[in-house]
Amino acid sequence: MKTIEHFVDGKLFSGDSKRTGKVFNPATGEQSAEVRLASTKDVNEAVSNAQKMFWEWSNKPPLHRARIMFKFKDLVEKNSDALTKIIVSEHGKVYEDAKGSLTRGLEVVEFACGIPQMLKGEFTENVGSNVDSWSIRQPLGVCAGITPFNFPAMVPMWMFPMAIACGNTFVLKPSEKDPSCSMMLAELLKEAGLPDGVFNVVNGDKEAVDALINNKDVVAMSFVGSTPIAKYIYENCAKNEKRVQALGGAKNHCVVMPDCDLDQAVNGLMGAAYGSAGERCMAQSVAVAVGGIGDSLVKSLAKKVETLKVGPGMDKQSEMGPLVTKEHLAKVKNYVDIGEKEGAKLIVDGRNFKLQGYENGYYIGGCLFDHVKKDMKIYKEEIFGPVLSVIRAKDFDEALNLVNDHEFGNGVSIFTRDGDSGRTFSNKAKIGMVGINIPIPVPMAFHSFGGWKRSLFGDQHMHGPEGVRFYTKLKTVTSRWPSGLRTDPEFVMPTMK
Ligand code: NAD
Repeated sequence: MKTIEHFVDGKLFSGDSKRTGKVFNPATGEQSAEVRLASTKDVNEAVSNAQKMFWEWSNKPPLHRARIMFKFKDLVEKNSDALTKIIVSEHGKVYEDAKGSLTRGLEVVEFACGIPQMLKGEFTENVGSNVDSWSIRQPLGVCAGITPFNFPAMVPMWMFPMAIACGNTFVLKPSEKDPSCSMMLAELLKEAGLPDGVFNVVNGDKEAVDALINNKDVVAMSFVGSTPIAKYIYENCAKNEKRVQALGGAKNHCVVMPDCDLDQAVNGLMGAAYGSAGERCMAQSVAVAVGGIGDSLVKSLAKKVETLKVGPGMDKQSEMGPLVTKEHLAKVKNYVDIGEKEGAKLIVDGRNFKLQGYENGYYIGGCLFDHVKKDMKIYKEEIFGPVLSVIRAKDFDEALNLVNDHEFGNGVSIFTRDGDSGRTFSNKAKIGMVGINIPIPVPMAFHSFGGWKRSLFGDQHMHGPEGVRFYTKLKTVTSRWPSGLRTDPEFVMPTMK
């Protein structure tokens, strides 16, 4: 059985922990590898290497760092097929979807290639007589990233290209469910010329996470995962005086107005609810049918959900792959059981889906509920599977209130032909990312990604301009070069003369 190691100081590192986890191929249910689960000592070793490299790396000119990012971008492109296959084999999503997610990560690398421009700072000549002042942004030190299973390439790539380009060193703790992609990205960074120790990967579980939280040399933490863990990370990193951004779970609504182009809305919803088997933080799991559109919406959706092509991610015919683990499959099926018990109407039931030749894979067919109510568990909680709930609202205001009353605030979209509804909605929605006739409004790399409410703890969103702010701190220098004139001591607050 293959063992997935850690990557520390530019090489594979076994550490001294004897604990390992199992990695599975969700399409077949077979174990493909075991992964090391780092001890506190192993994590501290990685952090200490990153700390040693910080001074040297942060002193490199931004242009030097940008050139390494350019080479890394080239290498990721050249190896995109291999990286994509790794994602499919450990996560389960279909090949083209996996490739698309890698591209979205690569776009952050492209943005990071422009780091010299972003670190230019601000300068004012003569803030006072013969006094100049400038503001610069400097790197922080060792930054850490903890990432979820659902985007094994893209989410780490939201973090480390920005952190490294800004002059920090980095320790990544990827999901123990699909760790291989991060290991390959580490090899490619080395090949691109990144000095050893600047980027490190420690594999592990809660012990590794807690070691990162408790290590004083880790000065900033980026987290993406479920809300309870995001809150835990936020609170404990703050307690340990770290800068922290912790992105959590979601329950994204799609408001379907009676005036919308129904085909467009249905197709948008199909991709957004069932793509990647619903295991996306921007997946749409609630369709809000406004006014009289509910019956025709459910009818059109049902036809398409029934004919969804479910199969292994490497099969070109598959539109939806398996779920990530056996445990997650059981959890999602249980939510469908709960929905039925709560009295929602199960229009399409995918629980008994079976695929010949793949009987041990973690498959479920698409599920569709109608007449879901606000107080039901399947409405309130994140299911993270291919289960779409249709909830009915009498008008625009009721739909908007549903969106705003929900505890999560990651993404939302509205389908309408009416500019006023679209504009008012985007203005009033208490949500971080809004789409108008766009089902999954994931911002491009040069904007920033993040939700509101319990979908993000912290102040800064990820990547883009917010990423630069998160991974740097501001310094303002005020300077005077007296030309022969010596001044007497001043005991009053200096003001502009
Ligand atoms: P998770 O919270 O279970 O795990 C995320 C990370 O935290 C992993 O690296 C894991 O090892 C670690 N972890 C798990 N339990 C821990 C514990 N008790 N203490 C310390 N660390 C722990 O999330 P997941 O199941 O891997 O990913 C799915 C979740 O991530 C969903 O809730 C999804 O919405 C969310 N997500 C959010 C975004 C976003 O941008 N808001 C993006 C992707 C995924």
